[in-house]
Amino acid sequence: MKKKLIIHPALFAVFPFLFFYAHNVQDLQQLRAVWVALVVGASVGLAFLAWRLFRCFLKDRTKAALATTLLIFLLFFYGHLYGILENWASIVAGHGYLIAAMLAAFGLGVYLIRRARRDLGTITRALNVVAVVLIAMNAGTVISHEVSAHRAASAWTGITEEVALPDVDFMPDIYFIILDEYAHPDTIKEHYGYDNEQFIEGLEERGFFVARNSTTHTDKTARAVASILNMEYAPETEPLRAAWRRINQNRVIDYFQAMGYTCIYFGHYHELGRYEINADMYVNYYEDADYQPLMAEMASYLLRNPAFSPFHDSVGGERYEDYYREGLLNTLDHLGEVHEMEGPKFVFAHIMAPHVPFVVGPDGEHVEAEDFYNYDDEEFYLGQYIYITQEVTGIIDDLLNESDTEPIIIIQSDHGPRWVEGWEKILNAFYLPDDDHELLCDSISPVDTFRFIFNHYFDAGFEPSEDARP
Ligand SMILES: [Zn+2]
Repeated sequence: MKKKLIIHPALFAVFPFLFFYAHNVQDLQQLRAVWVALVVGASVGLAFLAWRLFRCFLKDRTKAALATTLLIFLLFFYGHLYGILENWASIVAGHGYLIAAMLAAFGLGVYLIRRARRDLGTITRALNVVAVVLIAMNAGTVISHEVSAHRAASAWTGITEEVALPDVDFMPDIYFIILDEYAHPDTIKEHYGYDNEQFIEGLEERGFFVARNSTTHTDKTARAVASILNMEYAPETEPLRAAWRRINQNRVIDYFQAMGYTCIYFGHYHELGRYEINADMYVNYYEDADYQPLMAEMASYLLRNPAFSPFHDSVGGERYEDYYREGLLNTLDHLGEVHEMEGPKFVFAHIMAPHVPFVVGPDGEHVEAEDFYNYDDEEFYLGQYIYITQEVTGIIDDLLNESDTEPIIIIQSDHGPRWVEGWEKILNAFYLPDDDHELLCDSISPVDTFRFIFNHYFDAGFEPSEDARP
């Protein structure tokens, strides 16, 4: 007898990951091939094990395969079902009932499969076809996205092909600090009733120019950062993946390196991918954290998939957030010390605060796990906002007081809190050693940040980008 082709359990074991990836491909950074291979390999391996086990029990490879696919289906459907029921609240008191119902469904399914006397070839072939079609459709989405992201990113050219490098003596250290989702003083006052004028005035007293009418054109972090670091608006129509690529091979760092600067990047918190940024030194956000970085990221990443999210607390617990807090504190500790390094430096720090998770209160106290993503209660965003404001003030003082030569310091938010009106207003503050503030305008676009710096200090001759604003 000719053996039936049975591929559906393996394909269905791959499918949930591919589906998740295809539906989040806009927002995800490049995945690490090794992690993809591990997760998919583990999933297929477990499916194979289950199949072998069911074979012992059902004494039939076709039936065992059907039981395996049923098990996979129930496992991945569980999280979605739990999410649906949870939204209608009172229906489930907890996991207990749902797990019992799922087990009953599985038991009944296996019982029916075992009892079946018919040849199960037709249903096996049908499942094979369905699995192949589902995989092909989602793979198509991923591939077409990858291709267009790659095309968009490779359309940009290196900066040094466009401008001549000047010969300059004055090469101050330059600090560019992004506070992710940091509200403009007007926004924090209007929506949170918090007066942050003291911070702004403090900056001005220290010699900063604060561009009070500066706005961003996008609420997408990657697009905002790609635009700043390439001095050109990253198109809204382009996949976000293209923006990540533009960050990784950005023209600002290219230019600084060509000028002889050492470029140091303080990474922000990451998903599986990272900014593989073209800097000379990468200060890992998590360097001193106790946790296994990739495991924690993996937990966070997988648990945001609705299929797994109900298990977040029991599997991932608070590990990711504890780890995140350590990473944040670690970055803040090191940033104030980096001036001790020899030679001209461009330091880019992307600090993921006051952005979620809300892990610290105004005085650095630990926030409880259940409130890490609590946007409803204003105290959590505000707490982390106040905390990061104080920390950054301390870092600025360290840099100003302890640097051998006066540095340039730029503090910016990529966008304000995106859930309120006025998110496009940003904090945008410049400390320039020679106090040439009249050259800066109150509404300077973040995209012009480095056009200004390169023109003013290195005579680079870039046109302002304002006309190109989308
Ligand atoms: Zn952001």
